[in-house]
Amino acid sequence: MLQQVFGYPSFRGPQEAIVRHVVGGGSALVLMPTGGGKSLCYQVPALCMPGLTVVVSPLIALMQDQVAALQQAGVAAEGLHSALDPQQTAQVWSQLQRQELKLLYVSPERLLAGDLLEQLGSRVSLFAIDEAHCVSQWGHDFRPEYRQLDQLAQRFPAVPRLALTATADPRTREDIRERLGLQADQVFLASFDRPNIRYLLRSKQQPREQLLSFLEEQRGSAGIVYARSRSRVDQLTAVLREAGYPAVAYHAGLESEVRRQALEAFRLGSDVVVVATIAFGMGIDKPDVRFVAHVDLPKSLEAYYQETGRAGRDGLPAVAWMVHGPGDIPQLRRFIDDSAAAPEQKRIEHGKLEALIAYSEAAGCRRQVLLRHFGETLAEPCGNCDGCLEPQRRQDCRVAVQKVLSTVFRTGQRFGAAHIVDVLLGANSERLRSLGHDQLSVFGIGSELDRNQWRAVIRQLQSRDVLVSPAEARGGLSFGADALVRPLLRGEEPVDLALPDPTPTGRRSRRAANGAGAEAPGVAIDPGNPLLAALKAWRLAQAREQGVPPYVVFHDRTLLELTAQRPLSLEQLSAVGGIGRAKLERYGEALLQVLSDRDL
Ligand code: ADP
Ligand code: ZN
Repeated sequence: MLQQVFGYPSFRGPQEAIVRHVVGGGSALVLMPTGGGKSLCYQVPALCMPGLTVVVSPLIALMQDQVAALQQAGVAAEGLHSALDPQQTAQVWSQLQRQELKLLYVSPERLLAGDLLEQLGSRVSLFAIDEAHCVSQWGHDFRPEYRQLDQLAQRFPAVPRLALTATADPRTREDIRERLGLQADQVFLASFDRPNIRYLLRSKQQPREQLLSFLEEQRGSAGIVYARSRSRVDQLTAVLREAGYPAVAYHAGLESEVRRQALEAFRLGSDVVVVATIAFGMGIDKPDVRFVAHVDLPKSLEAYYQETGRAGRDGLPAVAWMVHGPGDIPQLRRFIDDSAAAPEQKRIEHGKLEALIAYSEAAGCRRQVLLRHFGETLAEPCGNCDGCLEPQRRQDCRVAVQKVLSTVFRTGQRFGAAHIVDVLLGANSERLRSLGHDQLSVFGIGSELDRNQWRAVIRQLQSRDVLVSPAEARGGLSFGADALVRPLLRGEEPVDLALPDPTPTGRRSRRAANGAGAEAPGVAIDPGNPLLAALKAWRLAQAREQGVPPYVVFHDRTLLELTAQRPLSLEQLSAVGGIGRAKLERYGEALLQVLSDRDL
């Protein structure tokens, strides 16, 4: 089934266990990262079971792509949604009545309105609830329509329900189980690691220049650039266009038609860069997004994971790039404080922000920190993040640490970071003089680092609890546990910290340390390969003709496999991943023709 219809030789991760469980009549919650392969978990059962599988999905664009992809694979699938005209709707209805469909995609409101459920009634063999976190207020995309899905458990107790999400947050997870009546059912948890994504973080100096030099390495690839505000999105879009990128802007302030066009351009192209606020996200099912860049800090580690997870869903190398600096943090804190959320909720959000800050300042492997946050342990450093690839960026800061601790001690363990840095840098300030701090032995002993770098040292000492700032101290720093502080004060051991690059003074430091380092794992994408270019051109023509995104015809991975294996017969073609029986029949001959061109 898997091989014949979808063209894949084997299941991935927990897919097989899930399929068995569902076909055996069990309900379950599936937690799998974006790109993990959730769709197959209900598509394969849908084909194995008698009757109809109903897939609840929140967005029309998502449904359309999935339905198109299934139809290409020769599966009887349709969607019922508001983008259909009355005639199309009638056609889907009659197919339903004639029991011709195996999969029906619907929005939750459509499913529960009218008598659709009564009509389908006893013929439903599975309910799949995609993006199931939409049912929870704890999730990042609550949709009230999802709430009514609790009816399914009551009205169809005998029909298995499969809820799927990429949100791993334990609180959301429990809420989903409760809301959908899945408390007693199995939970399948896949690893949240995305090994093909390379995490690269840079300290924020001149974000625009840094972004341009990063994009230069990505030219010709599709990607997303996230910025915090609408005005920044508009500005950056203009800058990128100026620099020759096919860039489009996306934010909630744009007319819906403009947004639709941006989305369409991104979906159908393979080199479009979307500059967006976080309003751009759900429903981006595009598998060949090669990079996600953040020019502003996201609001939590979950949000970062979610946003970067839109890169490389096809499993090919992709980059999650971010510039971050201390300047972003106060604004994000204020954002949470000023929100209308309940105090308890605010505490949770502050915690999630802290986790992100700790991640961005972590010494060593980023992936280890990221996965630890999701309750997983990665035993070895990953070798595919800036912490692993560029260890020289971390340095032994034991002397700097001694200086900070001495200054905190000599000023009486009650001043905040800004004041401590003033003393270290020997600032010419009336306040320092009036406190007599210009007379201390530590005054002005820190000229080797700049203000930004000293702040980073202090923050990292805070994140290790060497320096603490109890609530009643109002930002004042004091020593943490003796056992943590004493060895550092003596300077006996190396203390590896990540320092931001020095703030450039006047001179512009374009093309900062941005080198991509070692090769990413997996298949490399060589844009210069003429056969690949020919296959892509052929695919684009097919996609245009049918009005579907190119990846619905074939994924990048399939094209890459084709260039590597150069199959010469239909039989050899059918062994390539992603070429099932229907696609072989439909495209086999044409592919062989492209492949047999001797000049490529
Ligand atoms: P999710 O919904 O979890 O984000 P998808 O279901 O869209 O992920 O699958 C992500 C990608 O992985 C798709 O390109 C899909 O074709 C591919 N894929 C899924 N399962 C397999 C498998 N068993 N073997 C090979 N490729 C797979
Ligand atoms: Zn790493």
